[in-house]
Amino acid sequence: MQNSITLVIATRNKGKIAEITDLLKDFPVLIKNLDDFGPIPEVEENGDTFDANAYKKASFAARVLGMPALADDSGLVVEALGGAPGVYSARYAGENSTDEQKQAGILQEMKGKTNRKAAFECVISIAVPTGPALTYEARCEGLIADEPKGKGGFGYDPIFYYPPLEKTFAELTMEEKSRVSHRGKALKELQSEFEKVIIWINQNMPKQAKFNCAR
Ligand code: IMP
Repeated sequence: MQNSITLVIATRNKGKIAEITDLLKDFPVLIKNLDDFGPIPEVEENGDTFDANAYKKASFAARVLGMPALADDSGLVVEALGGAPGVYSARYAGENSTDEQKQAGILQEMKGKTNRKAAFECVISIAVPTGPALTYEARCEGLIADEPKGKGGFGYDPIFYYPPLEKTFAELTMEEKSRVSHRGKALKELQSEFEKVIIWINQNMPKQAKFNCAR
């Protein structure tokens, strides 16, 4: 199948790249990621919302590379903590904190709290170099567990209990998690509309950049 466009996944996270590439494999797009290019400045994820950060990452990569780019931003939102850690999920327990430290931080703050409601949220942004973008959002609701459980996944998965499956996200297989997770659901929605997305990209790509980026 001939690939009519190149789409850059604006991340170096191998897990995300594998997940996204797999879902878009049957479409006529050539998927690349940031590691396929030379050094590119890092974007500061200082937006107030997942939406703002996802757009920032996607539009920056699209502008710098001159081709359409896709980025996702996600995190944990805990009701009893006023929505924290939210957009600070990656660095809530400190800039270079481990997943275990992040989980311990939340469990400490949740000590004695009876409202354990939480959700993972994900926003996917697809941007073209001139600025316009498409957005896909999804959310997965669950509860903060009393203690970490399970060895799979990453980040806050061991403390995110998903009642319909009676397990934490870290106790699910990757397939089970993808079926119900915030990122899995947002990607599924994108996948279901991807033919229209390709048309939108083609209509919004500046002619010059489109020809320059074909590799
Ligand atoms: P980012 O979107 O890659 O910046 O992710 C933000 C942070 O949110 C990650 O570092 C994780 O701590 C957390 N996070 C996002 N998605 C998940 C998930 O599916 N499971 C567990 N933690 C997640």
